[in-house]
Amino acid sequence: MSFNVRNMTVHEALSLMERRECTSEQIIRGLLDEIRAVDGRIDAYLMVNEDDAINQAKAADRARAEGKKGKLLGVPIAVKDILNVRGQQCTCASRILSGYVSPYDATAVARLRSEGAVFVGRTNLDEFAMGSTTENSGFKVTKNPRNTDYVPGGSSGGSAAAVAGGEAIAALGTDTGGSVRLPAAFCGCVGLKPSYGRISRYGLTAYASSLDQIGPITKDVTDAAVLLGTMAGWDEMDSTSVKIPVPDYMAGLSGDLKNMKLGLPREYFVKGMDPEVEKIVRAAVAKCRALGAEIVDVSLPHTEYAVSTYYIIATAEASANLARFDGVRYGFRIKGASDPIDMYGKTRAAGFGPEVKRRIILGTYVLSSGYYDAYYLSAQKVRTLIRRDFENVFKQCDALLAPVSPTVAYRIGEKTGDPLQMYLGDIFTVTANLAGICGLSVPCGVNKEGLPVGLQVLGPAFGEEKILRIGHAYESAST
Ligand code: GLN
Repeated sequence: MSFNVRNMTVHEALSLMERRECTSEQIIRGLLDEIRAVDGRIDAYLMVNEDDAINQAKAADRARAEGKKGKLLGVPIAVKDILNVRGQQCTCASRILSGYVSPYDATAVARLRSEGAVFVGRTNLDEFAMGSTTENSGFKVTKNPRNTDYVPGGSSGGSAAAVAGGEAIAALGTDTGGSVRLPAAFCGCVGLKPSYGRISRYGLTAYASSLDQIGPITKDVTDAAVLLGTMAGWDEMDSTSVKIPVPDYMAGLSGDLKNMKLGLPREYFVKGMDPEVEKIVRAAVAKCRALGAEIVDVSLPHTEYAVSTYYIIATAEASANLARFDGVRYGFRIKGASDPIDMYGKTRAAGFGPEVKRRIILGTYVLSSGYYDAYYLSAQKVRTLIRRDFENVFKQCDALLAPVSPTVAYRIGEKTGDPLQMYLGDIFTVTANLAGICGLSVPCGVNKEGLPVGLQVLGPAFGEEKILRIGHAYESAST
């Protein structure tokens, strides 16, 4: 027997299993039914291993019967195909890694596993997480479950589409410049980018190491709190993870916004953004005021430099990180090369897609002697100014409210011919990564076509408790 899991959340699944009203196996079978029914249309998954998922679920059911405990015992989690899960493929949606199987679990995955989570499958993404629509996948284009003519956002588009389409209960994404928050906003689910250092990056295939963070994509804020609490905390395998205590994020979800001062950054409500998006976000702000928050105007004056700063730093780091994919150590190797140098070149030429090549070339350029000072070094200085902007406003208020994106989801193919336009869509998300702060995307309505809009709640570094509380209060008042 299977169970209908289309709208099921993590906390609902857990209480059903705790009350013995269903088993993990029934949940997994229900999930596999959904995947079979809708994934042909949505293309959220790159791989689903049905037998393995059912075996993991059976093991979780046995553990529960034996009285074992686990914060996520028997709960299925879908994982973006850039995070290592032992024994499963990890392609990063790139042909250069086709056939690659992970020999180990990422720390975030290991922590979920040790609490009993079940890993059902691998979700699609923009190749190496480079993109905003999932159209840069080397394998297929994921569609937005709200309307399949539209993109799901990216780069964690497969994870968001799986959750929004009812084919995942919750999923993991990664956010280097918005890749958790943007697809969550475009698909109408919740996405959390933790502060830099909150979750270990060990086992996350690096795109831009100083910006990357793992984050949950879920159906509600409570689930985001559950998953963050399980994954967060210092890890000796990642020297950039931070050794500070992990709060009880669930305990902070009080449902009100009393004594909260929330800032509206002037630079995030600008001419040129979709007026319908602005209207919907402003209505959400009004609701937060009605819930007891004080709303104040603030300014982040260096916002206009954020996209250029981000695309210099991210590509510079990517050009170095992706040097390891050379046909020797991982995945695919071209046949018939005459010598090793010829093999490296031909493998990379055939294995990487056009956007990845563009970024490696850009990144190599901004790091090259003669241009380093003008581009990379200047970008690092501007990054500091952007971080200071946030430090200053967080002296005046607890958190910020803003749109996630200036628009709703694009039509499939609408922006692929114009990478610069695509990059500009990241204006409201890349700032959090540059500053290392945390950000949450919460659904706040739909436009006339029924396409979702996301409210972004930005908090200070390690202020996840605050943004989860705000998101939860808003969500409880809106549903
Ligand atoms: N759209 C941004 C980029 O292409 C962000 C991607 C991400 O967060 N992984 O780099």
